[in-house]
Amino acid sequence: MILKNKVAIVSGGTRGIGRGICLMLAQEGADVAFTYLKSVDEAASLKKEIEKSGVKALALQVDVRDFDKTKEAVENVKTTLGGLDIIVNNAGITRDKALMMMSKEDWQDVIDTNLTGTFNLSRNAIVAFLKQKSGNIVNITSVSGVIGLARQTNYASSKAGIIGFTKSLAREVSPYGIRVNAVAPGFIETDMVSDLKPEYKGQLIKNIPLERFGKVEDVTGVVKFLLSEASSFITGQVMIIDGGLSIR
Ligand code: NDP
Repeated sequence: MILKNKVAIVSGGTRGIGRGICLMLAQEGADVAFTYLKSVDEAASLKKEIEKSGVKALALQVDVRDFDKTKEAVENVKTTLGGLDIIVNNAGITRDKALMMMSKEDWQDVIDTNLTGTFNLSRNAIVAFLKQKSGNIVNITSVSGVIGLARQTNYASSKAGIIGFTKSLAREVSPYGIRVNAVAPGFIETDMVSDLKPEYKGQLIKNIPLERFGKVEDVTGVVKFLLSEASSFITGQVMIIDGGLSIR
C-alpha cells in the first residue's frame, strides 16, 4: 500500500474513471472523499465499497461549479478525515456539437464544470498544501485538449485550459514540495463513451493504433504512478493514455 495515512478528494467519484480512482486510492490505503452531482445511490454504494478496504470514506453532493460549496467541502474533508494530501480533479462533462449548433449554455456548462471546477477545488485546497509544504494534484484532462477533436470546441478548450493550469500551477508550487500533473485519456469505456453512436464508435476504433477503447484501469494505473514516490521527479506533465490515438 503506497498511500497509507493519506487523505484524498476526488471530484466526480460516482461513475467511470472517478469511481475507479476512488477504489484504487482506497486499495492503496488512503482515506477517500469524493464529490458528485446527482448519483445519490451510486454514491452510497461507492462509500460502502471504499470502506471495505478498511479506510474512511466521505461522500459529498457538491457541484464543482460552485466555489463556495467546494470550499465548504474541502473544510469538511479536513475536519472529518483529519487533513488533505491529494486532489484528483476528475469531474467532467461533454456537450458535443458542431460549433454552428453549439449554444451559449453548451459552451458555458462544459467550461464551468471541467475548467472552473478544477480551479475551484484546487484554489480551495492550495493554502493548506502550501502551509504543510506537501500535496499532490492530478488533473484529468483529455486527448481532445491535446490534439483537438471535431464537435468538441467547448470540451477541448476546457481540457486544453486544464493543461495550461497544470503547467502553471506546477511551476508556482514546486518550491513548496507540491506536485501537479495531468493525465489525458483517449476513449475510455465509461458512460461518457457509451453515449456515442455505434457507427461513430466503430470509426473511432479504426483510428486507435492499439485497436481498442481504454479501460478505467488503464487510467487508474497512471494516476497511481503519479501519486507514488516512483514519480517524485515528475511535475507539470501530461501523460497521454490513448492507445496511440494522438500519434496518428
Ligand atoms: P462519467 O460521465 O462516467 O462520470 C462523470 C462524473 O463527474 C460523475 O461522477 C458525475 O457525477 C460527476 N460530475 C459531473 N458534473 C459534476 C459537477 N458539476 N459537480 C460534481 N460532479 C460532477 O465520466 P468519465 O468517467 O468518462 O470521465 C471522467 C473524467 O475523465 C472527465 O473529466 C472526462 O472529461 C475525462 N475523460 C474521459 C474520457 C472517456 O473516454 N471516458 C476520455 C478523456 C477524458 P454524477 O454521477 O452525480 O452525475
